[in-house]
Amino acid sequence: MTTASVGFDVIVVGAGIMGSCAAYAAASRGARVLLLERFDLLHHRGSSHGESRTIRATYTQPHYPAMVRLSARLWAETQDEAGYRVLTPTPHVDMGPRDEPALAAAIRNGGAAQVADTGSTWPWVGVFQVPDGWTAAVSEFGGVMKATKAVAMFQALAARKGAVVRDRAEVVHVIKRGEGSILVRTANGEEFHGAKCIITVGAWSTKLIKSVTGMDLPVQPLHTLICYWKAKPGHEHEITVEAGFPTFASYGVPYIYSTPAMEFPGLIKIAMHGGPPCDPDSRDWSMGGAALVEPVARWIDAVMPAHVETAGGPVIRQSCMYSMTPDEDFVIDYLGGEFGKDVVIGAGFSGHGFKMGPAVGRILAEMAMDGEARTAAEAGVDLSQLKIARFVNNPKGNLKDAADQL
Ligand SMILES: Cc1cc2nc3c(=O)[nH]c(=O)nc-3n(C[C@H](O)[C@H](O)[C@H](O)COP(=O)(O)OP(=O)(O)OC[C@H]3O[C@@H](n4cnc5c(N)ncnc54)[C@H](O)[C@@H]3O)c2cc1C
Repeated sequence: MTTASVGFDVIVVGAGIMGSCAAYAAASRGARVLLLERFDLLHHRGSSHGESRTIRATYTQPHYPAMVRLSARLWAETQDEAGYRVLTPTPHVDMGPRDEPALAAAIRNGGAAQVADTGSTWPWVGVFQVPDGWTAAVSEFGGVMKATKAVAMFQALAARKGAVVRDRAEVVHVIKRGEGSILVRTANGEEFHGAKCIITVGAWSTKLIKSVTGMDLPVQPLHTLICYWKAKPGHEHEITVEAGFPTFASYGVPYIYSTPAMEFPGLIKIAMHGGPPCDPDSRDWSMGGAALVEPVARWIDAVMPAHVETAGGPVIRQSCMYSMTPDEDFVIDYLGGEFGKDVVIGAGFSGHGFKMGPAVGRILAEMAMDGEARTAAEAGVDLSQLKIARFVNNPKGNLKDAADQL
């Protein structure tokens, strides 16, 4: 029997972190699952590849900390099941201008402890030269996830539970055949039947949803760069995970984020949030170089001058894509229209979704299989801000002012 002639309970389109977590969550419930990926598994052309992502609960928007905490529980459970770790706990630091409302909200919502005096009393005095007028807050809830390894973990566990995982299978049509009957067709003409479908195609969301429903989903692909910088001689150990160095975020313009030295000894990842718009099907891989590197170098020279070398630029640069919504909030919803509750979409993770992958996957699977996200409700996760309808006659969605971002 071919895969195509089998009926599935759930077909998941797109095998980044979100689709892989959704496939795992559905297969864990005993559903017959098909996970379809357009490129090779674990490819570098989307958003979920690479060495590291941060986890933090300090969020400007109050609806994310509960989802982060649900995810933290699910990360732990999944690691136990796999028998290996993908998440290394670290402290997390948020810093920025004292009068920055987004920073104040993040500290409040994430329950972080504001540092009274960054000039003398906090653990990283001497590493960060926190500018006058800035504040900083430390949260014990942080960590570094091995990104590609984590995606592979969810795919492997999904397959172990019976999910069929197929790559080099580009979905071009999702068609409603009747109540609880969805036909999925690939570019090479294969057809698959599913009772439900979950679409998690990252930066391709706008294109695929437009071709399936005609709807304009405001998810803008952005080209961005991950940069690794060299520690100055003698300071290699201080900035490592082993030395207790934190992940950190610096608010203001540019918004900077970092993970401690771990994957490449002697190198620390420091990068800026955002990047220029791009077309995921015709990317200019050299795009945005100086604009994504020079502001980071200037930030390093101002805040970490003794510890990180900027002369000669970053030692390693890796390209990645964001799928950005206008308000930087996710889209988690039923497709609606003729698809009703048979097709669920998870999109627009806006450069901060990886940490919540396990929760998003569980939510999408429950929405598809049960018609509601029970686990999210029990964990106090509010999904009402993440609906497609927020963009109807309101292109900015949940955005009220700049302080609502990040
Ligand atoms: C540089 C960078 C740093 C980041 N840092 C953090 C961080 O520190 N913390 C954090 O929480 N988040 C972070 N993020 C965000 C996080 O990585 C993303 O939100 C997340 O990876 C999005 O996953 P996804 O599954 O939606 O998209 P993707 O990983 O892109 O997966 C979508 C998949 O769908 C496939 N696909 C597309 N079209 C089709 C089709 N028609 N048929 C079949 N398959 C298809 C694609 O090939 C792709 O594999 C970062 C992102 C980047 C780029």
